[in-house]
Amino acid sequence: MKKSLLLISILLLASCEDGAGVEEFVLMGLDTKAASPLGRSTKLKAKNVILFIGDGMGPNHVSLARLSIGGSEHRLSFENFPITGIVYNHSAESLSTDSAAAATAWATGIKTTNGFLSVDAERKFLPNIVELLNTKGYLSGLVATSSITHATPAAFYAHIHNRYKEKEIAKMLIESDISIALGGGAKFFDFSPSNESLHVIYKKESLDNNLLSSYPRVIGLFAEGGLDRKLAPPTQLKMTEIALNFLAKKSLNCKGFFLMSEGSQIDWAGHDNNVKYMLSEFVDFENSVQAGIDFSKENQGTLILVTADHATGGLILQKPIGSKIRSQWTTESHDLSPINIYAYGPGSELFSGVMNNTEIFDRILLALDYSNLDSKNCVN
Ligand SMILES: [Zn+2]
Repeated sequence: MKKSLLLISILLLASCEDGAGVEEFVLMGLDTKAASPLGRSTKLKAKNVILFIGDGMGPNHVSLARLSIGGSEHRLSFENFPITGIVYNHSAESLSTDSAAAATAWATGIKTTNGFLSVDAERKFLPNIVELLNTKGYLSGLVATSSITHATPAAFYAHIHNRYKEKEIAKMLIESDISIALGGGAKFFDFSPSNESLHVIYKKESLDNNLLSSYPRVIGLFAEGGLDRKLAPPTQLKMTEIALNFLAKKSLNCKGFFLMSEGSQIDWAGHDNNVKYMLSEFVDFENSVQAGIDFSKENQGTLILVTADHATGGLILQKPIGSKIRSQWTTESHDLSPINIYAYGPGSELFSGVMNNTEIFDRILLALDYSNLDSKNCVN
């Protein structure tokens, strides 16, 4: 996969003043991995759930990544999933959602106002999936390449009507049911030394499975804000592998676990109208999904979902010239493209067809048979 990055070559850049209409020519990739469909699961009930979010990843971002890595016959890891669906993502008050409202939809099953985190449009508290599952003996984890207090991960532990109050959001993470949270955002946290059950790490060298599993809870903060790739922070892949290992070990005496892992900066690249940035973030995202697939093959009962909150940048792909794809950004904002969802593992059948983003919450609970789980805390 690393080799394929070298094939991504941006040949021409012509930008307009308002950012609309930025064109780039992307060389078609040669690292073709032909379709190798993953089998359908006969089981409807899942034990664990891994929710992968490519923030800002619309259908055309997926297509461009596929073509630039391996050409028209190439398939990305999650394009081999047996079940796909289409997700409509408008928020409570706007056709154009932000990450906070979209993540609240997955986390609580309710559409809310842009900028709100797990509170409804009237600012009323909404219980989220992590809290609901915690009462049934589940553990939860979060991974993001943004600060861990950013909108997408925050919807899974914070309840606040302003996504930008990240210091308050950080406090809510410390007090939450999240067992492992890995990402950036150190500048928002103030840890009290009396909290002995919580182990805080700041260096990627501390991402050691044996060491971490001796603590009940872990927060890893590898940057002051979002992860800066120039400083070689841990990849989404590495953080996802560590979180999966941690949750699998810790949930041996529990019902199962829920992990959300976000490729946060696919969205930032879309806002920047920067194809090269988008594709490099995409490769880390896709590698993380592959790690999820590998995990699920060894740990039966794991449902994997891959989706996005919205598409960013109004990316369109124009007719190629020779072996060069002409990609074009048409806005620096989010756009209204419907989003794809890809599902693999037990319960995946529930995710076919056209759905609202709130139904992802409903269908995850259905896949876990939530209403029939007994109320039991997890002992570990
Ligand atoms: Zn965005």
